[in-house]
Amino acid sequence: MKLSQTRVDSIEMFNRVIHVKRDDLLHPEFSGNKARKFAYFLENDFPDVKTLIGYGSAQANSLYSMSALAKLKGWQLDFYVDHIASYIKQQPRGNYRAALENGAKIIALDEQGDREGRDTLDYITEVVLPKTENAVFVPEGGRCEFAKHGVYRLAREIALWSEAQGLPQLTVFLPSGTGTTALFLNQYFVEHERDIQVLTCATVGGDDYLHSQFSELTDNSLYHPKSVMLPKKYHFGKLYRECYEMWNKVSGAGIEFELLYDPVGWIALEQYLQSDESNGAILYLHQGGMLGNETMLPRYRRKYPDLK
Ligand SMILES: *Cc1c(COP(=O)(O)O)cnc(C)c1O
Repeated sequence: MKLSQTRVDSIEMFNRVIHVKRDDLLHPEFSGNKARKFAYFLENDFPDVKTLIGYGSAQANSLYSMSALAKLKGWQLDFYVDHIASYIKQQPRGNYRAALENGAKIIALDEQGDREGRDTLDYITEVVLPKTENAVFVPEGGRCEFAKHGVYRLAREIALWSEAQGLPQLTVFLPSGTGTTALFLNQYFVEHERDIQVLTCATVGGDDYLHSQFSELTDNSLYHPKSVMLPKKYHFGKLYRECYEMWNKVSGAGIEFELLYDPVGWIALEQYLQSDESNGAILYLHQGGMLGNETMLPRYRRKYPDLK
């Protein structure tokens, strides 16, 4: 099972060469980001654990990766979601379907009688965890210290690559959800005094929210990555014409990306490159998540039939 050591390719975008770290080529069940985040669980034994508990959206990449992790470990995955959209229930696809096939129990809170107005996290901490023995609880999107283990290995791979390439300066760009990956990457480079900057952008909740997420992970602001502030706030999972246009443009350069995080990522990177005087090398971190395209691409095609 390939869970580290991905290659770097180069494409031409915005009239310059962009290097791409191909974490999308990691083992398909954990494709990309979640393979790095869950490496700690994959590489260690937990003889007492029987249940893995997570929460998030019914279409999340983390749902699928956690279901694969649970299956591999012989654990039961109980994944809590606020609700399940009717179009997914009627025709399961993508991450949701694959997780069900892996034996995941996906529990919708809007169908629970004892919810009492709680949000998902409160429900888990107040109702689920007290009555579940031998459980491991992973916060949304793998936002926890466990993630550091695998993200640090990714940072070491990037540092070795830049050394081998003889790059004087490197900017690593990646779009953020919770910001966990960007933060731990940057923390590694700061701790190890590497001349590698991490640059990111918010795809969930905007720039202020992203920085508050960084602060939750560490109060040392030296570790916080820089972020590109976009003129517009994108709502996660919503369809935007310019996102689909950007996705098509990058696909045309030769590598397929996913449709939730990457279009906003490439829009932010283009904005940064337009405003940036330095000619330092750019490494775009391809974080996988391709299974999500199974639902996102048909939605985009229906909404913008004129774009191809
Ligand atoms: C989970 C995920 C992210 C977001 O990672 P964070 O560490 O939460 O910022 C980005 N891209 C893909 C493809 C993902 O699966």
